[in-house]
Amino acid sequence: MKIAIVGGGIGGLALALGLHQRGISCDVYETVPEVREIGVGITLLPHAMTELAALGVQAELEAQGIENLESVFFNRYGQFIYREPRGRHAGYAVPEVGIHRGKLHRALLHAVRQRLGDDRVHLNHRGVGIEQDESGATIAFQTAAGEPLPSVRADVVIACDGVNSALRRQFYPDEKVAFAGINTWRGVTVHRPILTGKSYVRIGSIETGKMVIYPIVDNVDGQGNQLINWVAEIRQEGAAMNDWNRPGDAADFIEIIKDWRFDWLDVPALIRGAREAFEYPMVDKDPIPRWTFGRLTLLGDAAHPMYPRGSNGSAQALIDARTLADQLAQGGDPRDALTRYEALRLAPTAKVVETNRTVPPDFIIMKADELSGGKPIEGSIDDLISQDELRRISDSYKTVAGFSLAALKK
Ligand SMILES: Cc1cc2nc3c(=O)[nH]c(=O)nc-3n(C[C@H](O)[C@H](O)[C@H](O)COP(=O)(O)OP(=O)(O)OC[C@H]3O[C@@H](n4cnc5c(N)ncnc54)[C@H](O)[C@@H]3O)c2cc1C
Repeated sequence: MKIAIVGGGIGGLALALGLHQRGISCDVYETVPEVREIGVGITLLPHAMTELAALGVQAELEAQGIENLESVFFNRYGQFIYREPRGRHAGYAVPEVGIHRGKLHRALLHAVRQRLGDDRVHLNHRGVGIEQDESGATIAFQTAAGEPLPSVRADVVIACDGVNSALRRQFYPDEKVAFAGINTWRGVTVHRPILTGKSYVRIGSIETGKMVIYPIVDNVDGQGNQLINWVAEIRQEGAAMNDWNRPGDAADFIEIIKDWRFDWLDVPALIRGAREAFEYPMVDKDPIPRWTFGRLTLLGDAAHPMYPRGSNGSAQALIDARTLADQLAQGGDPRDALTRYEALRLAPTAKVVETNRTVPPDFIIMKADELSGGKPIEGSIDDLISQDELRRISDSYKTVAGFSLAALKK
């Protein structure tokens, strides 16, 4: 069976590794002409790490990232709202890890090249369309610069080409990303460790401005400083959508957090010290009724792009990859395998897309803001709501996303 994976991101590379583990060969076609370590951080939650462990890359990722000890929530006045232990510290078998995206990608790509062979990864191949007949599918390719390349014939095509998937567009030509006025800016800053040095920190809410801050590289300068990943987010009525390709400019959002000088962190100083920054629109797409069209199916962000408010997109792509590899390994007509995969994954991921819009983890801070009338809390958060009640909100998200302790212990 000839399987073509279009898109060599997290989902595409994980699928290649998963198929190889099951004795099925495949080829990966990726747009970019060369792989460079750019980008900022990503958090690998326990369900992502469970999949990555099964693919045999956990130790490498742990060595290159930072294991989170806790997740901590503050309001925009820097007041404590809620804290919980994370990963192994919360009883999971695997750690929760913050890591540079480039390092994650490089580890996956290295494993694919080493196990499947260098010639199985085809860079500078942009999939632009697919045609099918009874005996197979034909994928049209261009270089990244738009020059035509020979087309490729395959039994099965898996579109892992991300949020702006060209292959999905062929089946949903009028679809656009959904933008609800939330823009984000992301960057990395060399900074002294914040709180425990292993803390995943959320401050504020998207309604009035929010920051997510976590370390991704320890002792980055030999002087005990860390590389800190940060994301600023805000919803503004009528805002123009941020550009995917423009560097981030602190001037565009510093106003929101200019007074966030807390005794435990000077947020404006963190932003101003950025080594690198990018802007990004917070977008997703409405769930669709079908991912599988004969010999083609969608996987990862191509299938279910979601707001990055739950550190969860990569986990869903990784679970997709394992589920699809399992189905293809059962043999028989591969079209049936694609249909079974869709039946297993479409509804759970649609639920995550919806929950990331309505009740993501940062809902905890929105709830606290609601109870304090958006003002600084007088006294302590316990006077407004108990830690147990806040834990229930957090646990409910974990259940929807598939990483409750009970689910992963099964
Ligand atoms: C701001 C932000 C923060 C996030 N933070 C987290 C986090 O902390 N934790 C987490 O788990 N998830 C996070 N996510 C989500 C996560 O990044 C995605 O869900 C994940 O990358 C999806 O993997 P994928 O392989 O489907 O897509 P991608 O990783 O986007 O890979 C798609 C690949 O396809 C290639 N490609 C595109 N078009 C074509 C084409 N036509 N032909 C061939 N190749 C093509 C691209 O170059 C790319 O390599 C975040 C997302 C964003 C936007």
